[in-house]
Amino acid sequence: METKLNHVVLAAENDIKGAQSIHELMNIKAKYIGKKSEIMDLMKTLGSLSPEERPKVGKTINIAKQNIENLLENRIVKLKEMEYQKTLQDSKVDLSMPGYAIGYGSLHPLTIVWREIEDIFISMGFDIAEGYDIEDEFHNFDALNTPKDHPSRNLADTFYIKDDVLLRTQTSTVQIRTMENYKPPIKIISPGRCYRNDRPDASHSPAFHQVEALVVDENITFQDLRDTLNTFVKKMFGNHMKSRFRPHFFPFTEPSAEIDISCVNCGGKGCAICKNSGWLEMGGAGLVDPNVLGKLGIDTEKYSGFAFGLGIDRITILKYNIPGLRLLYENDIRFLKQFTMNN
Ligand SMILES: [Zn+2]
Repeated sequence: METKLNHVVLAAENDIKGAQSIHELMNIKAKYIGKKSEIMDLMKTLGSLSPEERPKVGKTINIAKQNIENLLENRIVKLKEMEYQKTLQDSKVDLSMPGYAIGYGSLHPLTIVWREIEDIFISMGFDIAEGYDIEDEFHNFDALNTPKDHPSRNLADTFYIKDDVLLRTQTSTVQIRTMENYKPPIKIISPGRCYRNDRPDASHSPAFHQVEALVVDENITFQDLRDTLNTFVKKMFGNHMKSRFRPHFFPFTEPSAEIDISCVNCGGKGCAICKNSGWLEMGGAGLVDPNVLGKLGIDTEKYSGFAFGLGIDRITILKYNIPGLRLLYENDIRFLKQFTMNN
């Protein structure tokens, strides 16, 4: 029987060598190891053999079958290689031609500034906290003391997904979630994307970026807020920069203030950009309303806190003197190419 098997393998080898296509190979496979092949017929006779002979003969048949399978496999690889070479020849590709140079990419200015902001606050002992872009009304409005009839809750101002589910309009939602989940001392910033139903123009975009800070600890005062913001502004824009506060109202903080920084263009002397005031608006700040802390189960006898929010888009525009918000979102490669981590 071994001689017979050897003949079968030899015949198969001959056929396989001559095959010029995968289709042909499949027919050869059926012929030699398919259901109706000689080898399969031999397999069927195993049952009639004695228990001593059976394993030995079975093994011999299997080796023959395996040999044919290997030959088939190798021929397939060979045929594919030949096909590839033929395609290369037919396509008239000149492999000696030099390739196209691929230019270096650079980070988006918003990404550069976002990372710089994180680095500055990390160096001041802050942690980075992240939240969800899709939020519920409770975390975006109720928990922040926003009255039920406040205009910001309007469909015209906020993107609702369904009744009480919306795209967050501010990253303060992360502050609430942090206070729900962690006990003071808390010292975090939450940078992220926010959404408002605004028509895009030089100073508005339906999607924009904010960074908010929250500190809750014993004996936190307005002076801590001033010091933190002043340090940030100097590290971000340079040592000559100053910041100032103007009284304002936010539902979430009491007292509240708007933050101005010295004009990055004229350094405070007065120019067209700062409308001759020497100051530019940067965001809002204040001491966290004890009401907000109390609702979240924080002992207001022992703890107080401050919070502030700044626009990352606005900081980017001021830092790089970019004329208008739109350039940040148009993805014009000629504009984006001008930014690298070094400038
Ligand atoms: Zn100015």
